[in-house]
Amino acid sequence: MPITSAAAYTPKALIAAIATAPGRGGIGVVRVSGIGVAAIIGGVTATREPIKPRVATLARFLDAGGNAIDEGIALYFPSPHSYTGEDVLELQGHGGPAVMQLLLRRCLELGCRIARPGEFTERAFLNGRLDLAQAEGVADLIEASSAEAAKSAARTLTGEFSACVHALTRRLTDLRVHVEACIDFPEEEIDPADRAAQQMKLKEIRALQADLARKAKQGAVLRDGITVVLIGRPNVGKSSLLNRLAGDDIAIVTPVAGTTRDHVRASILLEGVPVQLIDTAGLRATDDEVEQIGIARTWGAIEKAGAALFITVAGEPDGSREVELLGQLPESLNVIRVRNKIDLLGELSVSRGTMADGVGRVDVSAKTGQGIDELRGQLLRLAGWQPGNEGAFLARERHLAALSEASAHTDAAATMHGQDELFAEELRLAQRALSRITGEFTADDLLGEIFGNFCIGK
Ligand code: GDP
Repeated sequence: MPITSAAAYTPKALIAAIATAPGRGGIGVVRVSGIGVAAIIGGVTATREPIKPRVATLARFLDAGGNAIDEGIALYFPSPHSYTGEDVLELQGHGGPAVMQLLLRRCLELGCRIARPGEFTERAFLNGRLDLAQAEGVADLIEASSAEAAKSAARTLTGEFSACVHALTRRLTDLRVHVEACIDFPEEEIDPADRAAQQMKLKEIRALQADLARKAKQGAVLRDGITVVLIGRPNVGKSSLLNRLAGDDIAIVTPVAGTTRDHVRASILLEGVPVQLIDTAGLRATDDEVEQIGIARTWGAIEKAGAALFITVAGEPDGSREVELLGQLPESLNVIRVRNKIDLLGELSVSRGTMADGVGRVDVSAKTGQGIDELRGQLLRLAGWQPGNEGAFLARERHLAALSEASAHTDAAATMHGQDELFAEELRLAQRALSRITGEFTADDLLGEIFGNFCIGK
């Protein structure tokens, strides 16, 4: 498997893309990066003054015949002081799809090729402008679905997460140097105070690791959220409940566009944690092939869900079809039994707890809001969210895996009393796991996967 190191960067051919979102907007940006930006500047812009580095310059953007495509701002960032670290040109024009296409086409005529998704950021990474975790932070900031997720992605993007990882790696190196010095001079008696100091340093490292893993896990919850299966007869109040749950957060019950036959019914935010809701209403026997595919997909999604809400109306018997569905859910799935409309019973106190069969239970009224905080809390707990947790880093599954591998090695090191070589080896392995987060050495196919999921023009 080819391995890429940021140090091995060689300047690359010109790429261009529309960097702003598709559709109409006040401003649209075409971005160009690579060797030979000067030729693009000469071919597409006409200005009164020569374009100076990093100075916004009013320019006319011209087609091959010298006709104006648009008038806007040209910005030139010579290497290395640019996003990619290469020469970069930004053409800021009027944000309409036709004008942006004309501008892009002109850049292609002048020798650019269309950038792949994420290629600008990939170049920035390969050129050492940002590390891999920061590059992922860029994509996660763009994708963030809540203010909380955006804030924690920004912490990753600006390098706070990487700085914590580097600080840990430095401490591991210091400790390794110390231990390896003992291995290199075996004839010298090791002072017991030295050993105690090593153990103390390891203890500090493990505490820092645990703190970083906790912040990363919180970030992962903000990024990935929880998927919840909804079970309940029509009219038990599912929609009302969802709107109540969403509360002041974007209160929506949005059918996801184009997925009428698909499983996701809605997406809500609870304290910034995205909650994807899977509707089981469409799970019925059918001969329709397309519907069957949708149903199979729904079951696939249910297998991976984090919780199920079994919703009934207080005082009414459970629907037999719903009970049957409940029995078909994976055994490991956490089920919360929700009795809605308790306002109709005139019950004042909220009943909650865990029933004998291990099912969580909460009585609510979507109408009055009774019991909603409790239900919200139960869902957030199942998602792994700790409310009021500041300083989360938007982390991905691969970061969590690397952190957990590093912890396994430092845990093992802690059990190696007096076995210096094994101790040092565990520290080395912990360091290696951590360095995967920031991408010091990264397999090309992992890079392809990471950057392939970016949007075009980023
Ligand atoms: P769904 O079909 O399960 O999505 O149910 P809806 O949310 O559309 O609610 C069905 C009806 O029950 C509507 O008339 C709601 O206003 C009413 N409803 C929902 N929740 C409550 C509640 O907690 N108390 C009372 N009294 N009515 C409710």
